[in-house]
Formats: sequence, C-alpha cells, structure tokens
Amino acid sequence: FIYDKRDGGVNVRRIENKMGIKGSPTCELTYKDAKAELCGSRRLGLIKYVMALMNGARLGIAAQSVGVSELAYREALAYARDRKQFGKAIIEFPAVYEMLSVMKGKLDASRSLLYECARFVDMYKVYDDIAKERSLTPDERKEAKYYSRLADALTPLAKGMGSEYCNQNAYDCIQIHGGSGFMKDYACERLYRDARITSIYEGTTQLQVVAAIRHVTTGSYLNLINSYLETEVKPELQSIKERIRVLADMYAKAVEQVGKV
Ligand SMILES: Cc1cc2nc3c(=O)[nH]c(=O)nc-3n(C[C@H](O)[C@H](O)[C@H](O)COP(=O)(O)OP(=O)(O)OC[C@H]3O[C@@H](n4cnc5c(N)ncnc54)[C@H](O)[C@@H]3O)c2cc1C
Repeated sequence: FIYDKRDGGVNVRRIENKMGIKGSPTCELTYKDAKAELCGSRRLGLIKYVMALMNGARLGIAAQSVGVSELAYREALAYARDRKQFGKAIIEFPAVYEMLSVMKGKLDASRSLLYECARFVDMYKVYDDIAKERSLTPDERKEAKYYSRLADALTPLAKGMGSEYCNQNAYDCIQIHGGSGFMKDYACERLYRDARITSIYEGTTQLQVVAAIRHVTTGSYLNLINSYLETEVKPELQSIKERIRVLADMYAKAVEQVGKV
C-alpha cells in the first residue's frame, strides 16, 4: 500500500531502546483508519512482492554481516600486531594466530557467498528488465528461471551463515583484545552489540534454515557444488577441491536416501 503521512492515522508508538545499531532508530508504527492506496496487483502481495522484498532485504543483511566481519577481523589483526606479551606481539602465539585464521576463513566464505548470490540475483533481474520491453525467448526464460532458483537457494545461506559468522567473528575480536575488549574504549565492544541483530531481523537464522532446507533435499546445492567441481583450479587448491568432491559424494548419498524415504 502507498500511504501519505499528511492524511494522518499513523502514530509512532515509541523509539526503541536497543542493544546495538543505535545509529539507526527503530520504532513501531500503529495504523488507525489510515487511508492508503493499493499499489501493484491483487493476490500477488505475499507470494510475489513480500517474498521479493524479503529476499532483497536478506541479501542486504548478508552484506551488513560481511561488513561487520571485515571490521572485526581488521580490529583483531591490528590489535594482535600491536599488543606485546612475554616479549613478543600476541599474533606470534599460535593460539591467537589460529583465531585470526579462522576469522579470515569465515569472512572470506561469507563474502564469496554474498557475491555469488548477488551475481545470481543480477542475472535473473536482467531478464525481468528485458521482459518489460519484449517477450523472452524460451531459452532466455529457462535461464531466467535457473538463476532465480539459484538466487532463492543462496539467499538464506548468505544471510544465515554470514550473520552467524559475523557474530562469531565479533566474539573472537573481543577475545583477541583480552580484558581491553570488554571495555567500551575499543570498537570491538560496539561491534559485538551491532553484530547481534544480523541473525535476528529479516528472518532469524532458524527461518533461513526453513527457507534453505528444500534446496538441500531437492539437490540444488549439490548441483551447484558439482558445477564448481567441473571448473579448473590452481594446483595449490587441488587438494581442497578433492576434499569437496568427497563431501559432495557423501551429500549425494544423503539426498538419495531422503528421496527413498
Ligand atoms: C532492531 C529491529 C529492527 C526491526 N525492523 C523491522 C522492520 O523494519 N520491519 C519489520 O517488519 N520488522 C522489523 N523487525 C522485526 C524482526 O524482523 C523480527 O523481530 C524477526 O523477524 C523475528 O521475529 P519475532 O521477533 O516475531 O520472533 P519469533 O518469530 O517470535 O521467534 C522467536 C524464536 O522462535 C524461533 N522460531 C520462530 N518460528 C520458527 C520456525 N518456524 N522454525 C524454527 N524456529 C522458529 C525464532 O528463530 C526465534 O528463535 C525488527 C526487529 C528489530 C529487533
């Protein structure tokens, strides 16, 4: 619906007092006898408009999560290089170095998922735009459907995993700061609070699992992994590719079992 606030009928209940993202005020709006006009077509509200809105917003939160992860990693890295204990920088302790490596792995994984998902969204949206000017050919329709399905499959993964990883990275960022991380003097304390919302709004992580599960059982993710396995990789990545192949085989067997059930 489109609503003009000059017509009245809408009230702000109150500005919420939140744990984090304090730079962005949040409030509940109450509508009473508020005049509004329908925009778009009837019967498409939930399945088309709301789902499109939510998928777009989820991609946005996946991007927000990558941003939080990136800052958590940078803050932790800078502190680990600077802070000296027992005569050396704490980054030289394997326990600290390992925490940083795991943080970087989670950050890179979240970013890759985000970019790949955004690529799929771009691909099908291009066809949406073309379809406004002319009819799509059968091949184009098929490709648009293919990318739309992939975008559908990757959005809950990018949002769910990205948000959980950014929370874990914010946690480890504080850990690397030691006692100082618990104080409000460092950015990591704010980051820890700001990260928390990402796995809640625009659908909690549990709801992302609900959205992703059918792509597990129908094999969308498996097909995608198999398509990656067909691409050439640098020799130093070959061993990782082989490990992924073993996991993909296990996954294929599991999907087969689900099919039998
Ligand atoms: C700062 C902030 C800003 C927000 N901004 C907006 C906004 O702009 N617009 C808007 O519309 N909303 C907004 N929200 C609302 C937000 O999207 C919801 O709070 C969020 O989606 C979770 O819904 P809920 O609070 O009703 O939790 P509930 O649905 O009550 O969930 C409670 C718990 O149950 C679990 N759960 C619920 N259903 C299932 C299920 N089917 N399977 C498994 N587990 C389940 C959840 O994962 C969670 O752990 C905002 C919230 C916050 C905190």
